[in-house]
Amino acid sequence: MRILLSSVCLETGTDIQLALYYLKGYLLKAKPSYGVTIQVFNENLKTPAITEKILEFKPRLIGFSCYLWNIKKILNICRRLKKIDPELKIVLGGPEVSPRAEEILADEKAIDAVVRGEGEKTFAQLALRMGRSIPADLSGIRGVSFRKGAEIIRNPDRPLLRNAGDIPSPYLSGLINLKDKNILDVPLETTRGCSSRCHYCYYHKNFPAVRRFSLGRIEKELKLILSHKPQEVYLMDATFNSDPQRAKEILKIFIRNNQGANLHVELKAELIDEEMARLLSKANAYNIEIGIQSANPKTLKAVNRGFNKKRFIKGIRYLNTFKLFYEIQLIDALPYQSYDNLMSSLNWLYSMHPAKVVILRLNLLPGTTLRDRAAGFGIEFDHRAPYYAYKSNAMTDTQVKSVEKLTYAMDRLYDSQVFQKTLYAFKAKAGVKITTILEDWVAWESKFKRRPEDYPEFLNRKSPMFLSYLCRKHSKTDLYKELLPGLLKGLCFTYNK
Ligand code: SF4
Repeated sequence: MRILLSSVCLETGTDIQLALYYLKGYLLKAKPSYGVTIQVFNENLKTPAITEKILEFKPRLIGFSCYLWNIKKILNICRRLKKIDPELKIVLGGPEVSPRAEEILADEKAIDAVVRGEGEKTFAQLALRMGRSIPADLSGIRGVSFRKGAEIIRNPDRPLLRNAGDIPSPYLSGLINLKDKNILDVPLETTRGCSSRCHYCYYHKNFPAVRRFSLGRIEKELKLILSHKPQEVYLMDATFNSDPQRAKEILKIFIRNNQGANLHVELKAELIDEEMARLLSKANAYNIEIGIQSANPKTLKAVNRGFNKKRFIKGIRYLNTFKLFYEIQLIDALPYQSYDNLMSSLNWLYSMHPAKVVILRLNLLPGTTLRDRAAGFGIEFDHRAPYYAYKSNAMTDTQVKSVEKLTYAMDRLYDSQVFQKTLYAFKAKAGVKITTILEDWVAWESKFKRRPEDYPEFLNRKSPMFLSYLCRKHSKTDLYKELLPGLLKGLCFTYNK
């Protein structure tokens, strides 16, 4: 039985898609004689070229891992594959199709089955059944929705695997070749599932219970991964420090075995203490994501997200003390999140001198509670992936667009470092809010013609002109002379780097 497990990835095409290796490992445990190949395609490759490459494998069964960023392309590939080879069995899985399995089957005749929820056991049973006969009767396989003649059948849900350790480690089993020089970023899950229930998120619906891989397994995996000196290890857990003691143990293992890799983690700031920040620093954690989404209590309540302001501030202070690089994430059109609320959140965050703040667009993901309740909050959104919200009761469509422009200003004035010191100095001396300066920048920048190839540098060089504009606009012309030398120093530093 020749099986191909595939997906489409963003940008580099070198990403390791762990989900596919989990499926392969679990299936081979049950049936070592199966020929299972994994191939992930770059999103820039055209559909006919991908189809051709897939058909070269001559698979009888193909499974695609689907996310909101690749679903459109994967469906195009499936339609083309089925047209050329009607006998080929095509199965989809992943968070993008799990909550709308029957809708996909009804709309897309090329798809034979959809695996819902946690896929390892379900896909293994499905492949074994198809290995015996094609077409196979998929009745009785929990977690599958499938086509039977003109009918679409939904089998009962499958409970989660009790022990995540039943899934072979893609690294320790040798399924992933760490010697591959194209691998720069190595993902690793230490925990599967999330105990939070944020209403805009689907992850906890796919994996409602938290199951942890054993520390013994993680130690062996990290030793092996780090011995190959990757550029970065990405611990993919929803909240890596949800169990702070265990997170510290894993950081110590990482530090003991690290040979120069950077660490990428997603953290809850409230759970960071001094020891954790010190360990993160020793572990080269230069890529830390912290989702706060909003600082407005009404918004956080509406999306069922906990937040402890005091402990958050403490956690951020520890990260700053150890000069760690982190990104705090807000989301734009959440319930009750008005433009003014968002600006207050931003000003408050900037008052802590964070490494970076970003505002993400709200995606109304299929299967989420927020999508079901969107109408009640006046949230209107695009019903095609990536399901961006474009307005809500609290934020008009014009304001959503203004937020988008502001994110570019945040990148130019704050993240790029060119203007950051001047930004704080102007705020302190002129008493103007950071968000007002960002809005001023949007208005000032709109006068220039966009030249994508040299645009950031072009604007950086013009930043003294922006300072002059700012001083004039706020009737603080005397500040120009005072702040210019500092800005020029920053500019020289940036260009001589
Ligand atoms: S957003 Fe993060 S913390 Fe909230 S439920 Fe999803 S994975 Fe868990």
